[in-house]
Amino acid sequence: MAAAYAAKKSGAETVILLERDRHAGGILNQCIHDGFGLIRYQEALSGPEYADRAVAEAENMGVEVLTSRHVVKMSADRKVTAYCSEGIEEYAAKTIILATGCRERTRGNISIPGSRPAGVFTAGVAQNLMNLHNVMIGRRIVILGSGDIGLIMARRLTLEGAKVLAIAEIMPEPTGLARNVSQCVYEFGIPLYVRTTVSKIIGKRKLEAVELSDLDDSGNVVPGSERRVECDALVLSVGLIPENEVAQTANIRLLSNNAVDTDQYLQTSIRGVFSCGNCRRVMDLADYVSEQGEMAGRNAVRFIKGDPMEIWDEEKSNCMKKGFPESDTITCTVCPNGCQIKWDEDSQSYMGNGCRRGTVFAEQERTDPKRNVTTTVVVKGERQSLRPVRTKTPVSRDEVLQVAEKLRGISILPSSKIGETVFTYQSKAGEDISVITTAGK
Ligand SMILES: Cc1cc2nc3c(=O)[nH]c(=O)nc-3n(C[C@H](O)[C@H](O)[C@H](O)COP(=O)(O)OP(=O)(O)OC[C@H]3O[C@@H](n4cnc5c(N)ncnc54)[C@H](O)[C@@H]3O)c2cc1C
Ligand code: SF4
Repeated sequence: MAAAYAAKKSGAETVILLERDRHAGGILNQCIHDGFGLIRYQEALSGPEYADRAVAEAENMGVEVLTSRHVVKMSADRKVTAYCSEGIEEYAAKTIILATGCRERTRGNISIPGSRPAGVFTAGVAQNLMNLHNVMIGRRIVILGSGDIGLIMARRLTLEGAKVLAIAEIMPEPTGLARNVSQCVYEFGIPLYVRTTVSKIIGKRKLEAVELSDLDDSGNVVPGSERRVECDALVLSVGLIPENEVAQTANIRLLSNNAVDTDQYLQTSIRGVFSCGNCRRVMDLADYVSEQGEMAGRNAVRFIKGDPMEIWDEEKSNCMKKGFPESDTITCTVCPNGCQIKWDEDSQSYMGNGCRRGTVFAEQERTDPKRNVTTTVVVKGERQSLRPVRTKTPVSRDEVLQVAEKLRGISILPSSKIGETVFTYQSKAGEDISVITTAGK
């Protein structure tokens, strides 16, 4: 969407965006948590809110957004074939930008021993079922993998009343952002075990338990460390693979991890065909995906005009603090840098903050930490239809689970629009906290 927007803004005559789903927005539509747009919009938006803005920006600029179009083929001379309900469509383009995203690694990719019962999900599938289809995947959950999606799902499952028994990570440190370790795991008291794996899946028709085992420094199971954990769902958050079937139909050069190989202008091995976002390289933040998309869009138009192209700075999206938060520190969540801030007794000031906003945040955290609550509510008369919601202003951290529980009991009208207040929570301090929808009809 960002690429399409920028291409049109740079003067392209016609820009067509082909999307196989019924809605544009990609993975953002199922990411109902907030934290998107901290750089781009200087706001902590939910995924659907971020998507909504991006779609509006593209459409207002004059991009033709065509959904329910599954692209099955493209050629080196820049012809594109898409399937839709009316049949087959062919497009001839002067330039193409591939932004096909990524998919998750599954149990098959990592070969966990044991039986094959129901109850094993990838994190994205679990997220999709819970956030879009009102399907609760289980009540006693084990998560394998501590990437951001696993960490975010640990919090999400907890807010929906499930018990996350363990997050197991084979590496010596969590692989997700420190801010997610802090806000999604530590704050809910969820056990996180590093150098640990699921060594066996147990259950006949339905999952009954998993076996967790410690790993030594070489990654081998430590004999005798196996322990059985009774659970009804196992969530796998074990990595993402760039999705590039369309690129392959034109023999575009891919790297060994299935990502599109591009030059510094984001141009693929075929001149005039560009690539951006997770199909080029899996990225942590939507803000950087959008920024890169915009550059791909501008470069595509520069290619048509024969102008010099811009260079993408690969280091740009790589600056966020990952792994364990440092002890006795506050992880700043105002921007994605995740600065580790400490109170220094000698100087009577905060240290480690990258900017002044960090001291304000740290002071708030020390005295009265607050959080936004993001969850879903049922749509009246549509049992399997959900709408994402969030608190308009943050609530006290101690009240997060209480707000989530209250919201599990409400339903909203199908006609509710994005930004509409659908519930008011009265906080312990007597404040009225509005709960608003973050996606509309
Ligand atoms: C679970 C999860 C949680 C995240 N949490 C955060 C967060 O808290 N904050 C943050 O900033 N970032 C987060 N991210 C990262 C960020 O949201 C993504 O990296 C970014 O949105 C990816 O954008 P994309 O356009 O590259 O891919 P996608 O969003 O995956 O979009 C690719 C699109 O291409 C379409 N497509 C693919 N193949 C075809 C085809 N053949 N024909 C037609 N259409 C096709 C797909 O349907 C999809 O809509 C998260 C990512 C995930 C997966
Ligand atoms: S202190 Fe400043 S730079 Fe660091 S995470 Fe907070 S807002 Fe970002």
